[in-house]
Amino acid sequence: MTAPAITLHPRGVRRLISRHPWIFADDVRSADGAAHGDVVEIRDRSGRTLGHGFFSIRSKIALRVVTLEDAPPADGLFARRIDEALRRRAAIADWEARRLVFAESDGIPGFIADLYGTHLVVQTTIAGTERLLGTLVGALRERLAIDSVLARNDASVRRLEGLTREVVPIAGTTPERVVVGEGTIRYAADPWHGQKTGAFLDQRENRLESARHARGRVLDAFSYHGSFALHAARAADEVVAVDASADALARGRENAAANGLTNMTFVEANVFDDLRARADAGERFDLVLLDPPAFAKSRGDVPAARRGYKEINLRGFRVLAPGGVLVTSSCSYHMDETELEAIVRDAAADAGRDVVVLERRGQAADHPVRLAFPESRYLKCLVLRDAGAAP
Ligand code: SAH
Repeated sequence: MTAPAITLHPRGVRRLISRHPWIFADDVRSADGAAHGDVVEIRDRSGRTLGHGFFSIRSKIALRVVTLEDAPPADGLFARRIDEALRRRAAIADWEARRLVFAESDGIPGFIADLYGTHLVVQTTIAGTERLLGTLVGALRERLAIDSVLARNDASVRRLEGLTREVVPIAGTTPERVVVGEGTIRYAADPWHGQKTGAFLDQRENRLESARHARGRVLDAFSYHGSFALHAARAADEVVAVDASADALARGRENAAANGLTNMTFVEANVFDDLRARADAGERFDLVLLDPPAFAKSRGDVPAARRGYKEINLRGFRVLAPGGVLVTSSCSYHMDETELEAIVRDAAADAGRDVVVLERRGQAADHPVRLAFPESRYLKCLVLRDAGAAP
């Protein structure tokens, strides 16, 4: 079967040649006969075939490039992409909870697959991959021991593609809680109702790494179910975890108990208010962890997001004990590392702190970054130490 053809403007061609997987609607010259979600042949103005991709009529991202080959992608190509994705993660295959497929970064646009023990949680965010869900899940089940499959198709980005938001069991029984190990702790993920597919897998290494700085008093702001806090609690005297979600905190308390940790307090509060109150009360922490939600979900949000990050970091520095470590993250890809660092620099200056950069970190290894796809590097994590004295 031949695929409908899409013709690009020169700018779209340049983008495709640069290997960026997204082509915007403005760069599409004609799309006659192509329906939403179709696999389409991509052409330049002279009619030359440049590759194939998924077409969207609704989204600003009109094309997600799948292959630069002349032949349309067959099921075999997606199975090969899954093999490559698994091979790429061979060194980390013993992580109990891990991302198996990270969409465009693994050559399967709009498809995410996370494994929690033997429970697979998938998500499709575009119409093209929605049609392939059966094929993709089938390929994963052939390759791994999987007891259940749940489609967490409730991500808000699905609206941009005109897809319904729903959570659909696909196979087996997905439990309400799946307990998985991470370093020396175990935690319960909530595949049905939790954020993302049940946990924030992308921060795994940053959690393990920041625990190396845990001592004395630790503050985990935006703690979700206590992820950073649990690791820190192994080494610290006292850990305070703050989040706005009562559900996440309830799971955090269960996690603390299941790990035999009695030095943790979980506080339901708005972090902005909570940090200010603690600073006013003169509280100090030896390790401060800041992992806010994406303040900038789109370009237009960036000015407001900048203020949010500045405020959080300023307040974080104010409660940091002299010589303490502050670990600050941003998962907004609209805010790159340089910009985040500038904001954090301003916040440190306003707080009168001289700071040493211990590490510039990113997302976990199972969320690979594609060089040609800057959007795939979304998580930044700075590990900073208060230098204790002015220069
Ligand atoms: N650190 C966590 C992930 C945090 S995600 C981990 O590694 O698993 C961001 C968290 O911030 C979510 O749990 C969300 O409930 C919480 N949140 C968002 N806005 C908040 C606010 N203003 N005050 C407190 N918590 C907030």
